[in-house]
Amino acid sequence: MATKSIECPKCSNFHIQRRGYRKLKNKIKKQVYCCFDCKCSFTKNPARKNVTDEIRQKIITLFHTYKPTINKYDGMGKSTYSTREIARMTGVSSSAVAQIIQKNYESKI
Ligand SMILES: [Zn+2]
Repeated sequence: MATKSIECPKCSNFHIQRRGYRKLKNKIKKQVYCCFDCKCSFTKNPARKNVTDEIRQKIITLFHTYKPTINKYDGMGKSTYSTREIARMTGVSSSAVAQIIQKNYESKI
């Protein structure tokens, strides 16, 4: 039985097969699909947008930027943005932000 109106994000093929579920952290089960042609697996989630290189760069830059302190007694002067704050500023989920930062670290080692 063919799955209707689901398109492969890579090759735009409609020849898609269901391939079980992926369990997310928030305990939501997500249907995983598999493309017959390019063999890529993906989940259907139109709300999720791809993180562009531009946003990725912005996240990394923000992570290495010190927050402007509101008053001179605030902390010891220097604090960086948390992943949650970066997520809010860039419109990316905080888990995606954490992942990007981690990958950025790994690439430097
Ligand atoms: Zn495909």
